[in-house]
Amino acid sequence: MAVLKVLEYPAKVLLTKSPEVDVFDADLKKFVKDMHDTMEDANGIGLAANQVGALKRVLTIFIPHQDNRYEDDEPLEPKMGWHDKKFTFINPKITKKQGKVRFQEGCLSFPEIFENVDRAADVWVDAFDENGKEFSVHATGLFSICLQHEIDHLDGIVFTDRMSRLKQSMVKKKMQKRGSMD
Ligand SMILES: [Zn+2]
Repeated sequence: MAVLKVLEYPAKVLLTKSPEVDVFDADLKKFVKDMHDTMEDANGIGLAANQVGALKRVLTIFIPHQDNRYEDDEPLEPKMGWHDKKFTFINPKITKKQGKVRFQEGCLSFPEIFENVDRAADVWVDAFDENGKEFSVHATGLFSICLQHEIDHLDGIVFTDRMSRLKQSMVKKKMQKRGSMD
């Protein structure tokens, strides 16, 4: 198990668009495994490669059904097909979006920040797995929100970019304060 360091805002790599992966080799598989280990260690439900300093279009998702602070657990929502599943998306592309949803999101690169963000309710995504095999998903609920959040990371977009100006400056001040205290 290898846990990588998760970079926090305003690390420049978080604001940089990642190029596509074109080599599917053993190094990529190891990196994907490290990303899953890192995400589990940090109690995150999604992670993009640039959050651990690597500029490549790779993201991982694992949304536990229980003990998941991003969903209300009282009462526990019914288990969906995407709960408790390890997902790896390489070179993901959103092919269709539908509906609107507002959800209070968090991000491992913005500790202790939770703010509402508007996104599409459903997305259809084409991607490759770590073996280079192509697959498609129709994502709903928190899976869809998480996938859009992580694909944004690959484009150098952080969730504060989706907030109002006022919220953005509040979050930036909080993050600066945090930086100066470390
Ligand atoms: Zn994030």
